[in-house]
Amino acid sequence: MHRRPILLVVIAAAMCLGVVADMGWRHLQSSHPAMVENDQQAGSDGQALVDAVPDDAAGSYERDRVEVASRTTTGPRVARESLESLAAGQVPVMQKAIAITVDGQAVVAVADEAAAQQVLDTILHQYEENYLGDATVVEELTFSESVSWRETEVAQDEVKSVEEAVNVLLLGTDKVATYTVVSGDTAWDIAMEYDLTTDQLARANPGVDLELLQPGQQLTITYKEPYVHLRSVAQRQVEEGIPFVEETVEDSSLWPWESEIVTPGKWGSRVKMLREYREDGELVSTEVLNVEVLSQPQRQVRKVGTKQVPDMGTGSLILPVVGDLTSKFGPRWGSWHSGIDLATSTGTPVKAADSGIVTFVGWDGGYGKLVKIDHGGGKMVTYYAHLSGYNVSVGQAVNKGDVIGYVGNTGNSTGPHLHFEIRIDGQPVNPLNYYP
Ligand SMILES: [Zn+2]
Repeated sequence: MHRRPILLVVIAAAMCLGVVADMGWRHLQSSHPAMVENDQQAGSDGQALVDAVPDDAAGSYERDRVEVASRTTTGPRVARESLESLAAGQVPVMQKAIAITVDGQAVVAVADEAAAQQVLDTILHQYEENYLGDATVVEELTFSESVSWRETEVAQDEVKSVEEAVNVLLLGTDKVATYTVVSGDTAWDIAMEYDLTTDQLARANPGVDLELLQPGQQLTITYKEPYVHLRSVAQRQVEEGIPFVEETVEDSSLWPWESEIVTPGKWGSRVKMLREYREDGELVSTEVLNVEVLSQPQRQVRKVGTKQVPDMGTGSLILPVVGDLTSKFGPRWGSWHSGIDLATSTGTPVKAADSGIVTFVGWDGGYGKLVKIDHGGGKMVTYYAHLSGYNVSVGQAVNKGDVIGYVGNTGNSTGPHLHFEIRIDGQPVNPLNYYP
């Protein structure tokens, strides 16, 4: 549906550019029938090769160009391979072909117009498949360059298949070569050897530190530089959820650690129409064209317990473990130590300092494995931290002296010890005040 306009653009461009003068081959410059402007291609013995070309060979193959090359050093040169094969009496067979051009420059040759069309179609369709598969409307899909074709004449073996031509246009080459580093190589040497800049060599070998080359290391010496780039504008519809909010209702029949969902929440949904701008598949910007809410989210109602633990504490505490007091309550290392540290071996049973109800059993950040006991009356809560294991569960009533867990080294702890903390109305107080 949306392909037709693109192909029309391509064909129109082809007709316009058909009359543009030959500006030289880009991809084909190292291959033999092509003219090159780079003196290095012919090499220092280029003139000798030119001289070695038999008259009849030159006569039947691009005689004019060979003659130009033999007379002047500033004019275009015949590529080295071409001269070699001509000197060896191998005259390439020329044939009519179609040159695919990018911004007026011939890049690669294919057999006929149908093949050229197929090359461009393949590139466009590959892009569509890779990046626009779920688009609802493709508004634009074009080459960033002016891509067209024109008739030309090339050596038979320069005519590429559709697949090869696609690779040349998209990768800048139809083959990827590697080089094995030998002792003494520098990135600069290798780059020079293969007519690359060190920057291109680096980009062809992402993740390789060119400063630290090792003998035996493989480097890619084909720098992929696409001749064509594509850009697209397409609309895409996405459906997404709208999260619900939660409302809490207090319930005095539940314990504070209990909660109950009264009305479960429900996600809503909306459909967004997006316009996505892509370059070579990469998303560069997005516009939101339209948002349609299909269903509104439904709020969730949760009951949270406020039932107060009855006063169960005796008021006189026992030490949860016997151990060395390695850290007191108060300022420590620029912060505040909210309890006392009692060092003893891992696995030592930890006792409830007073009677109460276990309100928390689990991991809590720097506390590591933690047990909290609420001693009731809305007053005192004790914390037992860095445990290696538990012996109680949430909601369980415990008596003073019951084993609730075991000394460990979990959370922010540098050795087995119990961190024991007492809170009154949520505020840590000095536990030693309770042990006269
Ligand atoms: Zn501590």
